[in-house]
Amino acid sequence: MLTIGCHMSSSKGFLHMGKEASSIGANTFQFFTRNPRGGSAKALDLADIRAYQEYAVSHGFPVILAHAPYTLNACAKEGRTRDFAWETMADDIRRMEALPGQMYNFHPGSHVGQGIEAGIEWIAQCLNQAMTPEQTTTVLLETMAGKGTEVGSRFEELRAILDRVKYPEHMGVCLDTCHVYDAGYDVVNRLDEVLAEFDRIIGLDRLRALHLNDSKNPFASHKDRHEKIGMGSLGQEAFERIVCHPVLKDLPFFLETPNELPGYAAEIAMLRKAAERGLPA
Ligand code: FE
Ligand code: FE
Ligand code: ZN
Repeated sequence: MLTIGCHMSSSKGFLHMGKEASSIGANTFQFFTRNPRGGSAKALDLADIRAYQEYAVSHGFPVILAHAPYTLNACAKEGRTRDFAWETMADDIRRMEALPGQMYNFHPGSHVGQGIEAGIEWIAQCLNQAMTPEQTTTVLLETMAGKGTEVGSRFEELRAILDRVKYPEHMGVCLDTCHVYDAGYDVVNRLDEVLAEFDRIIGLDRLRALHLNDSKNPFASHKDRHEKIGMGSLGQEAFERIVCHPVLKDLPFFLETPNELPGYAAEIAMLRKAAERGLPA
């Protein structure tokens, strides 16, 4: 069975997110660890976490995905901003350990003119300060669209970060379909070739999750504007092929499309149907 869910508001806690996910046909979800614009996190509610763990077992939720605030910039120019990034990440990872074995995704950052090489070094340094050898949380680098000075729009850049971290065994990659298509990887017409390239450069064993988003912009536009599934430049069939692909079908999928719950429910139902039906020969 497909593992699929969408981004949800975490304001009412884990059990609420689990129940809300079930109500729209999802068996996983993504949430922000704190206000997406940064700021301090709420105190952990251990009773809520225990209740969610029971719910997850009884409802077949395999794994969930936490998302770091998107304002974190591990490769900022200002030392204070970089310190804030690793301190926030360390705190997020520590908190995630209350719910062991989940995943934590973050945007590598923008080098703001310092150059890709410097950016890669800062990002690796951030991870090396925030991660611990005993953590059970897997930290995911998200593939980026390459807007402005974003690091991580080329597989080679993600590889270079992984090559510089102390605990690569606790790391993986989250492939965002809108971002990679905007970055110039043609997952619509050349999905097999893109996956072969990912395998050659990063290794498919590092691919741990996908963000399913259509794009408001054309191929290789480097823009990053998400669209509803089937309403953008990737088109519905591309997503049907993705959820049926033998290399991808058992990974967790997360929708980050511009939707309310009913819209997400419809996208999940459509993708589940495609996965059950399989592709025409
Ligand atoms: Fe993201
Ligand atoms: Fe994403
Ligand atoms: Zn995006």
